[in-house]
Amino acid sequence: MSNISFSKSIPVAGEYDVLVAGGGPAGIAAAVTAARNGAKVALIEKTGCFGGMGTAGLVPAFTGITDGENFLAGGVGREVFDRLHQANGTGPESTAVIRAEVLKRIYDEMVAAESIHFSFETVLTDVISEGGRVTAVVTASCNGLEALKASVFVDATGDGTLSALAGAEFAIGNEDGKIMPGTLCSLWNNVNWEEFRSAQVSVFDLLTRSFAEDRFFQTPDYHHSGMYRTGIAEATANIGHVYDLDSTDRKNMTDAWVAARALLPEFEAFYRQRVSGFANAQLSSSGSLFGVRESRRIIGDYILNFQDYTKRSRFADEIGHFSYGVDIHPYNPSLEEFQRFRAEFIEPKSHYQKGESYGIPYRILTVKNFKNLLTAGRCVSTDNRMESSIRVMPGCFITGQAAGMAAAMALPANGDVRSFPVPELKERLRKAGAFIKPDAQ
Ligand SMILES: Cc1cc2nc3c(=O)[nH]c(=O)nc-3n(C[C@H](O)[C@H](O)[C@H](O)COP(=O)(O)OP(=O)(O)OC[C@H]3O[C@@H](n4cnc5c(N)ncnc54)[C@H](O)[C@@H]3O)c2cc1C
Repeated sequence: MSNISFSKSIPVAGEYDVLVAGGGPAGIAAAVTAARNGAKVALIEKTGCFGGMGTAGLVPAFTGITDGENFLAGGVGREVFDRLHQANGTGPESTAVIRAEVLKRIYDEMVAAESIHFSFETVLTDVISEGGRVTAVVTASCNGLEALKASVFVDATGDGTLSALAGAEFAIGNEDGKIMPGTLCSLWNNVNWEEFRSAQVSVFDLLTRSFAEDRFFQTPDYHHSGMYRTGIAEATANIGHVYDLDSTDRKNMTDAWVAARALLPEFEAFYRQRVSGFANAQLSSSGSLFGVRESRRIIGDYILNFQDYTKRSRFADEIGHFSYGVDIHPYNPSLEEFQRFRAEFIEPKSHYQKGESYGIPYRILTVKNFKNLLTAGRCVSTDNRMESSIRVMPGCFITGQAAGMAAAMALPANGDVRSFPVPELKERLRKAGAFIKPDAQ
């Protein structure tokens, strides 16, 4: 591959206290919290809606909302759940299930209410930084290339794109470089849920039988997350996997979209012919964001790790708690890998009891070697096992809210995210509704 040099003078489209890149659950929580704490905030999002995986990606449900006793995503997370429920935006059978179209509007309203300067179809494309300080981001939109300046930057892109472009260290995958598969979630209509429920079928058993008969599927994939009831006759599906997915590689992602779309008609034929209640069901659409479970983990001042999960670690600087299990999807479609996943996640001895959780230290948000850069959501500083726990959306609300509060608190010290006393951050988060246990003795 040859290179060309490219230089251009571009307009500065705005100057802000806090710039948040990415409007998923983490970015929303960060932007709303920073704005509520007095900051002038810009929020940029590459799609046409907020919510990330939970809306454009059609991820069907919030998981890990509580530890069985405590509501863990207090504050912005609680507000989102309550508003979604009040707006009839949850499923007919479960309040954790998401009607994506309703959630999109709720996020629009929440962001607009805080006078946040937000912009859709705006892709963070480059970052200008010097001496461990980010000074501006470069965006691409229908207006061409523009720069946005800020004192503090929050990377809520899921993929850690802002931090990586700034030159931050990151890790991807497990010890062998393996990355969890992705899933293109999808929406289905005309499901007879009453018939499905009363038949009490095991879709896993039906799938296994069809694999033995060599029916429906090009490649048997034993891990089947399933269909969620999102309406009277509607389902949102988290089914099918694309393996060896690397969302930091354009060619890999292009192939993944094609492969994932080709899988869905196989499931449609299977469900219609084999699963009670789905005889007349139809695939309506697939997500407009690819369901990426894992990519860059940006290295922070601390790396939250699997030992912290097993020890239920507490930290002096914890900004929240989480208890969702270590959920590493199979690395390939085989029965052996599915059995490994089942032993680790579905039937693990390590499952937490009610009320148990691990602490989330602030240091996993502060990016190593950078003064004014924070991460939030899926790309925070963890090992790959902890990423598979904290990545679920309530976890992203927790880290997003803390990043937004910290960004606002950093403003008097020129955006230095290590400039204020952490006990003060904890106190302000508690007042904003965060669930933070009393300090460990
Ligand atoms: C298939 C699948 C199933 C899942 N199931 C569940 C579940 O049941 N329950 C649960 O709670 N969680 C689930 N998750 C996990 C969860 O949805 C994600 O980990 C979570 O949404 C991550 O939140 P985030 O805010 O960090 O990133 P995202 O939700 O990925 O949001 C990032 C946002 O940043 C934007 N963005 C990215 N790059 C740029 C850029 N360069 N410029 C501008 N904007 C950018 C994206 O468009 C997106 O809107 C699932 C994930 C997948 C993939």
